[in-house]
Amino acid sequence: MVVDSQFPDLAKLCVEGLKERSKNRPVDRLINTHHHGDHSGGNIAFKGVAKKMVAHEFAANLIKQAAAAPNAAEQLSPDSTFTDVWREQVGDEWVRAKYYGRAHTGGDAVISFERANVAHMGDLMFNRRIPVIDRVNGALVANWITVIEKAAADHATDTTHIFGHAGIKFPVTGTRAELMVFRDYLTALLNHTRAAIKAGQTKEQFTATTPTLAGFEAFGAHTARTLGIVFDEMAEAK
Ligand SMILES: [Zn+2]
Repeated sequence: MVVDSQFPDLAKLCVEGLKERSKNRPVDRLINTHHHGDHSGGNIAFKGVAKKMVAHEFAANLIKQAAAAPNAAEQLSPDSTFTDVWREQVGDEWVRAKYYGRAHTGGDAVISFERANVAHMGDLMFNRRIPVIDRVNGALVANWITVIEKAAADHATDTTHIFGHAGIKFPVTGTRAELMVFRDYLTALLNHTRAAIKAGQTKEQFTATTPTLAGFEAFGAHTARTLGIVFDEMAEAK
């Protein structure tokens, strides 16, 4: 069972290592948490290796679209899709992929290994790092907060969560506590943006300064691009 495939060269190394250690046992399932290239770009290395390729319907469509573009590299696209939840027994493990709604994109899933008590959050989780917000492909920061809360509630307090990304010096795994820090950061980001809109600032004025948010200094400074995306979302929701 493999969750996400990063880039082709690295995925190739992963496949070689798996083959060597498993004495050529095939990969039962390759699952993508979402469509972004740094999570699905290496799928092609699993062609003929993974028996099935699973992703949320929305993510699968975007992967297929990208693969169909002129000059696109050869790609292995998902052959099994789901809209709410996918769950299967593999060996003595139960694996679940669940969609909680729009957040980082419009098609992110949490992949849970129920017996092992491990949950791969994909890019629903940035640990002390400014998140990528893919508004063009369905992201919604206001809902992201709810998505994290729902995902946390679906897992035990001692579940090991794997994060899509982390700031330098911060770990890529952790517990519910880290999820709550990120939820609170997103809330602070929305509040910061809401205050500016209420004060009558234009997008240009708002994105002219790129502060760190009080209490969330570890995340670092924002880019004008990130702030602009949040501004657009909130201006539209008004
Ligand atoms: Zn991503």
